[in-house]
Amino acid sequence: MIAAGSDAGEPDVTRLREAIGRVEDPEIPIRLADLGVLRAVTVDHGRVLVTLRTTRMACPGRQKMEYDIRAAVAAVADDLDLEVVWDTAPWQSTDVSEAGRQALRDFGYAILTRAAPVCPYCGTDDPRTEGSCGGSPCKVPFTCRHCGSPFDAVAGSLGARQATPVGFSSRR
Ligand SMILES: [Zn+2]
Repeated sequence: MIAAGSDAGEPDVTRLREAIGRVEDPEIPIRLADLGVLRAVTVDHGRVLVTLRTTRMACPGRQKMEYDIRAAVAAVADDLDLEVVWDTAPWQSTDVSEAGRQALRDFGYAILTRAAPVCPYCGTDDPRTEGSCGGSPCKVPFTCRHCGSPFDAVAGSLGARQATPVGFSSRR
């Protein structure tokens, strides 16, 4: 029995998208949408499908992301059938939005591309690598030769092995 005026079965899609859109990365306080991790939210007959693309399949933050998305959805409507799907396409540093890039710089992270990463502190692009293992599997540590600041570059599927050797000029 559904009360008159009730939209049972059809959740407020705008509120749902907003709630999911506010979920942040477990390690860096940046929205998953800005990191290019949140790919799609579809709502169909009370069923919510959220598609995520991890920066690394081995990312230990995946469970926490799923948990946070479930919590965000439950806060809007707790009777929805939610499915979180992990897209297997490789995440690219170009998936990060302009707002995400700014936020990464603000939090002291670079983004690893095929060119040398730019120091988030002084803006120069001549850091030395500190090995292949950063704060987590998707990050590569560097130290800026110019200002001496240590920082992590978000590497995604582009691991340290594929990164441009430091000092090698960018061909872009
Ligand atoms: Zn620097």
